[in-house]
Amino acid sequence: MKRTPCIFFDRDGIINQSPGPGYVERVEDFHLLPDFPQALRIAQSRGYRAVVVTNQRGVALGLVHPRTLEAIHLHMHSLLAQEGLKLDGVYVCPHDRGECTCRKPMPGMLLRAAEELNLALAHSWMIGDHETDITAGRVAGCRTIRVGDLSVPSEADERVSDMSGLPALLEALLPRQSV
Ligand SMILES: [Mg+2]
Ligand SMILES: [Zn+2]
Repeated sequence: MKRTPCIFFDRDGIINQSPGPGYVERVEDFHLLPDFPQALRIAQSRGYRAVVVTNQRGVALGLVHPRTLEAIHLHMHSLLAQEGLKLDGVYVCPHDRGECTCRKPMPGMLLRAAEELNLALAHSWMIGDHETDITAGRVAGCRTIRVGDLSVPSEADERVSDMSGLPALLEALLPRQSV
């Protein structure tokens, strides 16, 4: 079966408002960013899968119960469903630092998704608001887009200063036919 290209999306700061240095600990604190649905729509209309890869260390720290995280993600799916959208996968690293191979900047979640969903990593993109997202994407063999302050150094292939610039960038970058 042919491998499919994918857009990997970081969660906090890309899909929903960043909780700052902390964690989204309650369903009510998950606020969809207004430009994400359009970015997702463009990615999927161009034949890309859309997979979320998110570090949630708050689970390891006992700040976010696994069942709460599940409820937050059900809420995320239902907000997107209201826009007629559906993610192809959500991968979570619930671990503390240094105890796994999936916590970004390590590429474990992307590699697992590629295996399970038959993804073409070399034709895929990782989008995030931290350099750890960019590193994970690069190590997995993807191209990368960093969202946020352009004055911060980054290895990302492409950059936009905030989410409002992402839909147009994806329009310009993604080939109309899937590879
Ligand atoms: Mg983030
Ligand atoms: Zn992990």
